[in-house]
Amino acid sequence: MFNVILIMLITFSLWGTSVNAVEVQNHTKAKAALTPSSDFSFVILQYHHVSSDTPRVTSVSPEEFEAHMAYLAKNHHVVSLESALYSIKNRTALANKSVVITFDDGYKNILENGHPILRKYGFEYTIFINPDQIGVINTQLTWKDVEKMSNEGVTFANHTLEHIHLLDRKSQESKSKWLTRIKENITEAENQLTHQLGYSKKWLAYPFGEFNVSLRNMLADMGYTAFGQHSGAVGQYSDLLSLPRFPAAGRYSSLDTLRTKMNSLAMPVTKVSPLKYLIGLEQTLGSVHVDILLDDINLGTVACYFKGSSLPILKTNTGFSFDIEGAFYAGRARVNCTAPSIKQSDRFYWYSIPFFTPKEDGTFLD
Ligand SMILES: [Zn+2]
Repeated sequence: MFNVILIMLITFSLWGTSVNAVEVQNHTKAKAALTPSSDFSFVILQYHHVSSDTPRVTSVSPEEFEAHMAYLAKNHHVVSLESALYSIKNRTALANKSVVITFDDGYKNILENGHPILRKYGFEYTIFINPDQIGVINTQLTWKDVEKMSNEGVTFANHTLEHIHLLDRKSQESKSKWLTRIKENITEAENQLTHQLGYSKKWLAYPFGEFNVSLRNMLADMGYTAFGQHSGAVGQYSDLLSLPRFPAAGRYSSLDTLRTKMNSLAMPVTKVSPLKYLIGLEQTLGSVHVDILLDDINLGTVACYFKGSSLPILKTNTGFSFDIEGAFYAGRARVNCTAPSIKQSDRFYWYSIPFFTPKEDGTFLD
């Protein structure tokens, strides 16, 4: 209990004046096992299928899923998305090494193969669904399934009505018409969820993880919290409209690599400039500046990767920068940055920035 109060004190001070934070830290140095940057850190895992018969890239086999859950039960605290979000929104401490389990797309095999395992471990979890496909496509859950799972503690949230590419613009569609169309789609999906479930979380998982700054800002105005598909842990400096999740399927399903991600900390990034997610075809990005807090990170150990290659890192007065020189081509790309924690030597801070580039016709790849 005392530790919890200490953590809260340190954090409230950090959000007040930094002088107080330093004083509290100095007084509690010996006792505080956690650092301010890591106090509210948690990880969100993203799954789709739990099946051996579905596309490998978005699937874990039931055996792999069981192994993941057994590992989490032994080494982590699995918490609901609700309580994890409450923690960062209200600055209340969360159990160390907390992990949230989410699924996208509402496949029936989640109920058939995943749900019994999750029930066995008593893990709460969230599924982002497309209301127009529920009970319509035969590989999807029915509303009856949704109701049954909801009664058994599963939370359902918004993944748009019918899994559209949110950044696709129709020909001749103005920016304001595009935003209005997206707003109507998301609102109608949320209305259907509310009608079927009796609650509205206003949580949106971007289909394909795709968003841009205009969409992000509109969702902020609409009161949503939104989730991408880029890697990283969530913490007190995370943008609530572009929260990262670690994909845990296909080539990412091996516990050899997944355990490092489950154990990761949210890199305390306070600013990224330019903040740009949508990069036009064959355009370049150039220099990106990332401001971070350095209470538990040695700048010399920050490593960033883009398309499998290490990016040279330059130190700046407020953090670091890197250059992305090549042109962007249609599809999704991301920069992943990591740095080891000074105080918890077996843990890494993790942050990534996703980029989305349309095809020549202005639409986006699946
Ligand atoms: Zn999806």
